[in-house]
Amino acid sequence: MKMLNPTRSYTQCRGCGKRIPLSNFKYCPDCAKLEIRLQYELYSPEARKYFWAYLRKYGRRCYLSGMALVIDDYTSPWFLVFSHLNPGDKSRILPASALFNGMKSFLLKKEFRYFVLALDDHRRKHLKVKKIPLVDWHGLNLSKDSRVCDGCRQAAALKGRKFCPRCARLTHRIKRARFPREAINAIWDYVRKYGFICYYTGMPLDLDDLQSPWYLVFDHWNPRDPRKIVITSAVINIMKSDLTEEEFWYFIRQLANYYRKGSVVRKRKLAFWSRQYR
Ligand SMILES: [Zn+2]
Ligand SMILES: [Zn+2]
Repeated sequence: MKMLNPTRSYTQCRGCGKRIPLSNFKYCPDCAKLEIRLQYELYSPEARKYFWAYLRKYGRRCYLSGMALVIDDYTSPWFLVFSHLNPGDKSRILPASALFNGMKSFLLKKEFRYFVLALDDHRRKHLKVKKIPLVDWHGLNLSKDSRVCDGCRQAAALKGRKFCPRCARLTHRIKRARFPREAINAIWDYVRKYGFICYYTGMPLDLDDLQSPWYLVFDHWNPRDPRKIVITSAVINIMKSDLTEEEFWYFIRQLANYYRKGSVVRKRKLAFWSRQYR
């Protein structure tokens, strides 16, 4: 049997860079915990690279205080959290303690540093704390983590995600339907402008109850043509069937007149009708 070359049976942890036995694991046990959290919190490869570069240079230390951080006890104020170097910017993250990251919150690092020093001077030397303009202060109603949903642009996005719960479910359905990109963009433009309102009737749509006649469905504006998709209710979608919008309204009018006045429903040639009944 051939012996493994001992110099080749070690490799470097992809996180901290320390020597680890060669195996399927690319990270040392400590860095593996961090990498799992980074992925779970949906940080981009770019952000992760930035984080690991810092860690390799300075160790698991808080970039706001230089303190050594803990990674196992999430109840500790010194628990390592991923701090956004610039508030709201997820592409540059650094390790910070839960406590100081919370204190920094929406401040830039230099703003935080300014206040720490100004407060200390105030406490010790009774100096007045001078106000400075804050780059990322947006008022108290939008906390550092709450961002607006990328879909409806109205509700708050789920923590660490792009969408609010309703839009998250909707994007999942849109993805599954495999609509072309322009059609998807048009759906979102519509939702942002009008909300979850039926394109044909203006009725509010139900996004939760699959059994509801008003459940939101995607309707091909022209039958089977995926280039323009509108949202409507299940019941209207069935009624519209293989009609174009214009044909649909034509027949609605014809039927309404028939019910109201007993007038004859006039036939017309349908642009997309292709069903064959035997
Ligand atoms: Zn490591
Ligand atoms: Zn939304």
